[in-house]
Amino acid sequence: LAGYVGFHNLPNQVHRKSVKKGFQFTLMVVGESGLGKSTLVNTLFNTSLYPNKENKEPTHESPKTVEIQTISADIEENGVKLKLTVIDTPGFGDFVNNEESWRPILENIEARYDAYLEQENRVNRKRIVDTRVHACLYFIAPTGHSLKPLDIEFMKQLAGRVNLIPVIAKSDTLTEDEIKAFKARILEDIAYNKIQIYQPPMYDNDDPETVQENKDIISRIPFAIVGSDKEVDVGGKKVRGRKYPWGVIEVDNEDHCDFVKLRQMLVRTHMEELKEYTNEVLYESYRISKLARGGY
Ligand code: GDP
Ligand code: MG
Repeated sequence: LAGYVGFHNLPNQVHRKSVKKGFQFTLMVVGESGLGKSTLVNTLFNTSLYPNKENKEPTHESPKTVEIQTISADIEENGVKLKLTVIDTPGFGDFVNNEESWRPILENIEARYDAYLEQENRVNRKRIVDTRVHACLYFIAPTGHSLKPLDIEFMKQLAGRVNLIPVIAKSDTLTEDEIKAFKARILEDIAYNKIQIYQPPMYDNDDPETVQENKDIISRIPFAIVGSDKEVDVGGKKVRGRKYPWGVIEVDNEDHCDFVKLRQMLVRTHMEELKEYTNEVLYESYRISKLARGGY
């Protein structure tokens, strides 16, 4: 083929390079304690990133502010390596006065942008380490009513700085109708407060299959999730789920909850997209506002 250049292979080349280097992703989880954050992370990545409560040393002192804990794990699947970092925020919303609970979390996100900016400004920019937060799962308590003032304040303060992904925690404690009404109410609150949450983007050249996939994901936001690192028996088959007297809620069953759709977006289809948006839009806007303030 004369004149054939072969640009079509460029995306593959990028892909092969990343496969060799391994992928890297930083996820933050925020929400009141007991909402199932640690369990969901374990369920999402099918790993025991968090050891069982039983093996944990009891802590006696209660911290005065929101703690920020970072856990990293190298996971591998079919020869593809992922360096996963999870930033946990135990204690969020647990204080008598939670007014400023969002502040240490925003500061942590911005400190990570600063660290990146500082590396970019170095003479030698060969080995930039990216510790920026690529997505933030915000756990909404399954009250079935509406967002709490704390939820709204947190999301308002953090939107525009991080990819916000709201999830309804422990959705197995609500009925299908309750979830439907709760979702509508949450989306109303988000729209009313002009909070920018993460939306998978649509591109003009997307094939119909991708368009449908994205629509399916978007239609589930805020994701009603169920986490479980235990397997239960359903008709002789072992599935991840939670057992009730009336039956089993299956984590990996799309008819039972939105876990599969959340995982699909976060891991299977939009991980690179989330990183790109963080770099090109969120970090860029932080950098520009910092420059305007004379920060660098
Ligand atoms: P965290 O404090 O937010 O990290 O919450 P944990 O992951 O430690 O979970 C707190 C408790 O809630 C544990 O007893 C979990 O087994 C339970 N739990 C976690 N996820 C779910 C869920 O989706 N549904 C229900 N019903 N319970 C859950
Ligand atoms: Mg936890």
